[in-house]
Order: sequence, then C-alpha cells, then structure tokens
Amino acid sequence: MALVEQNIEDACRKAGRKRQEVSLIAVSKTMPVSLLKEAYDAGARDFGENKVQELLDKIPQLPKDIRWHLIGHLQRNKVKSIVGKTALIHSVDSLRLAEEISREAVKQQVDTDILIEVNVAEEESKFGVHLPDALALVQQIALLPGVHIQGLMTVAPYVENEEENSIIFRKLKELSVDIAKKNIDNVNMNILSMGMTGDYMTAIREGATCVRVGTGIFGRRDYTKRQSEQPQTAERHGI
Ligand SMILES: *Cc1c(COP(=O)(O)O)cnc(C)c1O
Repeated sequence: MALVEQNIEDACRKAGRKRQEVSLIAVSKTMPVSLLKEAYDAGARDFGENKVQELLDKIPQLPKDIRWHLIGHLQRNKVKSIVGKTALIHSVDSLRLAEEISREAVKQQVDTDILIEVNVAEEESKFGVHLPDALALVQQIALLPGVHIQGLMTVAPYVENEEENSIIFRKLKELSVDIAKKNIDNVNMNILSMGMTGDYMTAIREGATCVRVGTGIFGRRDYTKRQSEQPQTAERHGI
C-alpha cells in the first residue's frame, strides 16, 4: 500500500490537486480477511468488493469503521441483503435496479448512496449505461426516494499503456460536469470513481476523486485456489 500511496501523492502533485481530493479504495475481492486486517492496520478504511455474499461474509469479521464499497454488478435479487451495509454502491446502471434499491431503502428507512456506472468505451463484455443514455437515467433515478446519486463510475478497458485510457476518463469527467450544470434535485456529482491498478495515475490526472486499487495493494488474485489455501502474506505484497 505504501507504493500506491506514494504514486497517488505524486499524481496529485503533478495534477496540482490536493491529496485529500482522492480517496483510495482497497479492492479486496478474493483476498482473505487476514490481508484486509493488515491493510486496515496500515491505514485503509475504504474496502471494495464485487460480490454481495463475499462482502456480507467479511463485514462482521472486520472493524466497524470500515466503509464498504460494492463495485461489482448487482443483481436485483441481492439488493435486499446489501442495502444498509454499504457506504456506496458504485455499479447502478439501470432504472429497474435503482427502483429495487429505492424500495428496500425506504422499507429499511436507510439512505443509500450510489454511483451510476457508465460503459464509456461501450465494451460488450462490460456493464454500465452507455454515455448517450446516462443523463436520462440520472434524471429518472433522481426522482426515487431513499437513493441518492453521488457521482459516476467507470471501468476503463484493459490497455498496455494507461495513457490510452485518458480519453475514457476525460469523457466521464465531461459527463459529470454536464450533469452537475443541470442542478438536478437529489443528484450530486461529487464523486468520480475511475482508475484501477493499471491506470489510476492517469485517472487522477483526469479528475478521479476515487480510485479502486486491488492488485497494486494485495498482489495478484488467484482464482484457481480456495482462499484458505493461499499462502499470501501482506509483507510479500508490500503492505
Ligand atoms: C477488481 C476490480 C478493481 C481492481 O482491479 P485491479 O486491477 O486489481 O486494481 C477495480 N474496479 C472494479 C470494478 C473491479 O472489479
């Protein structure tokens, strides 16, 4: 985490931005609780998971002051179990999903902060509303009780050279500025969640307020082994 922190500081300085303008989400999906604890002890308070069940399993095993971020695709039938548990849901990309979150938020009497996921590059394999449809979706979701749009999120394409993604990040930033100008009730554009291990420095230059870094903090994910068999230590990954 020290290296990532240093890189974020460098990127902020080069962009003339304050370090406090960018929050780091430690993306801990597939990682065992012991590694999350080490990251917590090193200062991490924002953790990102992409699966509802894994997030629910980890919450009771870790300190209460952690802010949990759901960053992966959310199915409507899982909404009930996740509402009230997250600081932010990054992956809302349809009215039907937002309606489900709203219903559950009202029922539980909790306010739920969300981001709208935008598939800027229009990749077939990815979730997210397409850029031209994003404003209309925001306007519809803004009317729902119990859910509050706080900004936008994107997962940029995998590229060899992160500079290639600057155009993607710039487009998301432009969209957020355009939406902010419309002063829609119940809509904030304070958060721009963009940038992962391969491209967070570029994302910060282009205005990210929130970067989601997994591999850069915890090392590579091993999807072939069960978590308990992974011989990883935080030390090996430089936490
Ligand atoms: C896994 C994941 C990340 C982190 O990816 P790394 O390349 O390991 O940093 C960020 N955002 C989302 C939505 C993810 O699913």
